[in-house]
Amino acid sequence: MTAGTKPVGTKTADAVVIGGGIMGASAAHFLARRGFGRVVLLEKGRLAGVSTGHSAAIVRTYYSNSITLELAKRALHMFENDRDLLGGDCGFRPIGFLLLIGERLRAAGEHILESERRHGLHVERLAVENVAELAPPLSLDGVSYGILEPRSGYADPTRTTENLVAAARPWGLEPRAGVAATGIRLHGNQAVAVETEDGTISTNVVVNAAGPWAGQVGAWLGLRYSLRWSRESDLLVEKPADFGELPVVSDPGLRVYLRPCGEDRIIAGLGAPKDIEPVDPDDCDPGLDPEMRERIERPLFERLPALSRARHLGGYASLYTITDDWHPIVGPEPGLEGYYAFFGGSGHGFKLGPPIGEALADVICGETPEIDLAPFRPGRFIDGEPLTSAWGEGNRG
Ligand SMILES: Cc1cc2nc3c(=O)[nH]c(=O)nc-3n(C[C@H](O)[C@H](O)[C@H](O)COP(=O)(O)OP(=O)(O)OC[C@H]3O[C@@H](n4cnc5c(N)ncnc54)[C@H](O)[C@@H]3O)c2cc1C
Repeated sequence: MTAGTKPVGTKTADAVVIGGGIMGASAAHFLARRGFGRVVLLEKGRLAGVSTGHSAAIVRTYYSNSITLELAKRALHMFENDRDLLGGDCGFRPIGFLLLIGERLRAAGEHILESERRHGLHVERLAVENVAELAPPLSLDGVSYGILEPRSGYADPTRTTENLVAAARPWGLEPRAGVAATGIRLHGNQAVAVETEDGTISTNVVVNAAGPWAGQVGAWLGLRYSLRWSRESDLLVEKPADFGELPVVSDPGLRVYLRPCGEDRIIAGLGAPKDIEPVDPDDCDPGLDPEMRERIERPLFERLPALSRARHLGGYASLYTITDDWHPIVGPEPGLEGYYAFFGGSGHGFKLGPPIGEALADVICGETPEIDLAPFRPGRFIDGEPLTSAWGEGNRG
């Protein structure tokens, strides 16, 4: 056994999931919940230790393509019923999600309103005076109207991941934190085992949920995924006394998002549409650098002038894993049996992890999921069918 790792415990499994972020935890949870059998979840570090644990964990529904909208709608329902559907209290705070629309994005805003309503979601179009009433600390220069999702909010990403894992243990989920997968064995075109730092686990089902390292895992099978990584930073500011209430706010005009973080802090980051801040996943400085701090503070203080006098509480940086259309890659690979991809969440993978995990478990069990994951299939780029959205390229809408 390698020093410092935990024993694998079992040498055979009905499924092995590689990666203990929200995506791996979700896939493993829903497979076990469905009675798939013994599901081993390998995590080389700690659960939610990479992108997931650093997520702003905003749960909202304003997506402009059908599959993402349906998944986000399902995610909202899951977080609203987290004890039954996600294994426990995920710290979901339904404080509302407010999108600020300026003149330039008027048409995109109308599209969002129309498509959310078409999908049965309750959204409100707020005149500027109503936005001011809802979120008194905001300066509303340049805002034409607001779009409010009253049921949306944010959750606790680490608690969500841990709940998913803990709740599924009685159904057969075996988490192995501190144990890295090192290879996948094939017999012909069938996955037959996962090699780990601590021995080999025989299995016929492998889920690649390795997040930033999913390309490396795919390469073990000769697969070449086109992935990029962006270093994503958030900063924290003390909430001034008498500041007033705020929902989650997204401002695509100034390109900033912000939300309360508990009772006494505000968290903020650069908003969509985003530039990529290229980074090597194996060499990502976890600190907030001064230049990025300034880039976030500029639009943040423009929207919330009172924060410019507030105490800066630091910040951090983590990783986005980005596919060529900024949407996840999910599903089987043609020509390979028993291997499933599940990665590339960009900036929306936290909320989408649970509903995709649920649907992928159906696919793995040979059933038809309620939400068809085919638009996320790995081959969509070769087929010339990447996903599109209302905000244009390099975005999260
Ligand atoms: C700053 C920031 C803010 C964000 N805000 C939001 C938001 O508001 N809303 C939202 O929905 N999304 C948000 N996201 C995006 C979301 O957090 C990610 O899309 C999501 O967490 C990705 O989950 P994952 O499980 O794919 O990856 P990860 O959480 O990175 O998990 C992958 C795991 O795989 C493990 N692993 C890799 N290789 C191996 C191996 N060989 N063996 C074993 N384990 C391995 C890693 O150690 C890691 O723990 C944000 C992301 C960041 C960085």
